[in-house]
Amino acid sequence: MSADPATASGYTGHPRRMGFFTDTSVCIGCKACEVACKEWNAVPDDGMTFTGMSYDNTMSLSADTWRHVAFVEQPRPLGHQEPGFGEMDFRWLMASDVCKHCTHAACLDVCPTGSLFRTEFGTVVVQEDVCNGCGYCVPACPYGVIGKRESTGVAAKCTLCYDRLGVGQEPACAKSCPTDSIQFGELDELRERAARRLEQVRAAGVDSARLYGHDPDDGVGGTGAFFLLLDEPEVYGLPPDPVVTTRDLPSMWRQAGIAAAVLLAGIAAVTWGSRR
Ligand code: SF4
Ligand code: SF4
Repeated sequence: MSADPATASGYTGHPRRMGFFTDTSVCIGCKACEVACKEWNAVPDDGMTFTGMSYDNTMSLSADTWRHVAFVEQPRPLGHQEPGFGEMDFRWLMASDVCKHCTHAACLDVCPTGSLFRTEFGTVVVQEDVCNGCGYCVPACPYGVIGKRESTGVAAKCTLCYDRLGVGQEPACAKSCPTDSIQFGELDELRERAARRLEQVRAAGVDSARLYGHDPDDGVGGTGAFFLLLDEPEVYGLPPDPVVTTRDLPSMWRQAGIAAAVLLAGIAAVTWGSRR
């Protein structure tokens, strides 16, 4: 597949590829993004139960949580940060996770109904009214993003606010984020912005900072939603080296085709032999 997924999907004269850059270094964990996403997309509540495991009450992405803000407590200082008072050897890592809108999207590859499709902006959207509830997309996603909604039995996930993009508006989460932790825009420009921000954060003493999902040569061809993290991806519950789960499908179909041809040749030989 080409580096531009909209072109590879057959669009011509389409807009530039759009996406998210989530700069977790400025997230304050207010969860405005989760709320704005639910409100705009009419995503039902997911219980709002306090798990007792952390200050995070949503725990993970799901059919009913399209933005999820992770809270991680770590006993170490944040770069060269000056403590307000006394000793401070403690930092919060907060990160708003979302569907990655992968360049090579396994969820889309396995969907038999066309419910999941690539948009002209290069993003991946699921149409709940077309989904038949087979659930193939759920284990296919290497990030555990997409799920089946209990109340409807069909798949649901972030659409990158496809309806808002169509009328020139930014997604609801990016619009509501008070710190600009969630930035929306043309993916190429976001990548340049992220590289500059990474330099700043490292210069401020956070040597463990890194970008995640920005590399077009990674196992999913780079993502349309990428992140500046302050620690290893695993710390935030993200896979360190994701690979598109349908990577081996072409060779599997080739092997199946060869096996079928050999079988048919064997049947033909036996049939021909028995007639002699
Ligand atoms: S993160 Fe998962 S659900 Fe989102 S586009 Fe990639 S494979 Fe599909
Ligand atoms: S709205 Fe912005 S600052 Fe608030 S939790 Fe979401 S990403 Fe973090």
